[in-house]
Amino acid sequence: MTAQTDMDPTPLDFDEAMERFDPVFGIEVHVELNTKTKMFCSCPTTFGAPPNTAVCPVCLGLPGSMPVVNHKAIESAIRLGLALHCSIAPSSRFARKQYFYPDVSKDYQISQYDEPIDADGYLDVTLADGSIFRVQIERAHMEEDAAKNTHIGGTGHIQGAAYSLVDYNRCGTPLIEIVTRPVEGTGAHVAEVARAYVAGLRDLVIALGISDARMDRGSIRADVNLSLRPKAAPGEDQSTVPLGRRSETKNVNSLRAIEQAIRFEAGRQAARLAAGLTVKQETRMWHEESKDTTPGRSKETAEDYRYFPEPDLLPVVPDPAWIEELRGTLPEPPAQRRARLQKEWGYSDLEMRDVVNAGAIDLVEQTVAAGVTAAAARKWWMGELARTANEQGVELVELTVTPQDIAELEQLIAGGKLNDKLARQALAGTLQGEGSPAHVMEARGLAVVSDDSALTKAVDDALAANPDIVEKIKGGKVKAAGAIVGAVMKATRGQADAGRVRELIMERVGV
Ligand SMILES: [Zn+2]
Repeated sequence: MTAQTDMDPTPLDFDEAMERFDPVFGIEVHVELNTKTKMFCSCPTTFGAPPNTAVCPVCLGLPGSMPVVNHKAIESAIRLGLALHCSIAPSSRFARKQYFYPDVSKDYQISQYDEPIDADGYLDVTLADGSIFRVQIERAHMEEDAAKNTHIGGTGHIQGAAYSLVDYNRCGTPLIEIVTRPVEGTGAHVAEVARAYVAGLRDLVIALGISDARMDRGSIRADVNLSLRPKAAPGEDQSTVPLGRRSETKNVNSLRAIEQAIRFEAGRQAARLAAGLTVKQETRMWHEESKDTTPGRSKETAEDYRYFPEPDLLPVVPDPAWIEELRGTLPEPPAQRRARLQKEWGYSDLEMRDVVNAGAIDLVEQTVAAGVTAAAARKWWMGELARTANEQGVELVELTVTPQDIAELEQLIAGGKLNDKLARQALAGTLQGEGSPAHVMEARGLAVVSDDSALTKAVDDALAANPDIVEKIKGGKVKAAGAIVGAVMKATRGQADAGRVRELIMERVGV
């Protein structure tokens, strides 16, 4: 039972916490690699396959089975290390991390301990105000994922569950764990920096093509630790003030939750410290519904895991020539690419941020490459298409519309075959799987009518119905013709060529 004195006082407001204390955070991010097979066996890595169908004696840890390292996983770890400015270890080793839990049937996880493959790097993250913050990375190491437990009954947690199920499909999936050094000097920007760091890592692994990076599917998971220390006295260097005791919040699985978890923990710890209580070094669980954390188990130390070198695997000794070859495969850093594209496209900061947040940067780039102006590409992807994706609860890339379709649509508009309104109808057809915009235009008979015989009749009808406007036009009020254009458009269900209609009106009125 928790003693009364261990109960947390009401958390302080985040801003007040930041006025009184200096935050220091660290993040461990697990990235699931998108290799075809698992880390140490040839089982496929699948998401959503029937439970326990992608398993073998190696990933289940049956006696006598022997692991073999996945070459592609090593390649991904080295490329990530290079992109994070890490040094790549000439030799690194796997170790056994011993613990008992149903999700590791071997009773140990194969990880790297004192010899990680990547060490001493950094990632520069851009904050909302445009400033750049450098997050130092201590290490990135390879390991295998555990199985997935599902607790049935109760609240979905192990406590109070009627029974639990284990799906071993995930166990043995290659992971890279990226560990920061303690991040100091953020002040009140602590939550923003933490979020931007994980977003930056996500963008980087996507650019490298080494993970599907879906936080909602758990392919990127973050454990966030935070501590507070007193503010330095005037004239004193903050970095000389000893660090406070930290808590680690597990499995924070969205960018927003990272920000919220840090803000909550800062307020909770500040309230304890302000009340003269200590902060316990412990693992805490983040609760998405209530936006708070509760204590998990006491934090294990390395000794608890009884690490020792994995005797069934040789050290990883990558050929320096191969490392150099991999260096040549690195993509343009995402932040640099964003800045370059924003300049090329002439977008404002806000417009660019919207495109990035919507995951539309590649789509816009491909649309522009297909010959569409940057402004038009943004108009379509961030307007009609973003709205549709939102309604259907899917990503933009999952829509049936391609950058080539947008290029075709723009050509039809430029060629006078579609006006804006008809173009939207053609696009709606493409979204419903009716084919390319040109195909939909033909099939639905959407093309703009510029044939004079059809238009002349509609113009004459509209003029006859509005004699007062005809008088105004004759009297020199050319703007009044707009009402006649509107009437003709209505009569032709928006399919008339507005420019030609205007010309015909002037002809018929005789001005
Ligand atoms: Zn297997």
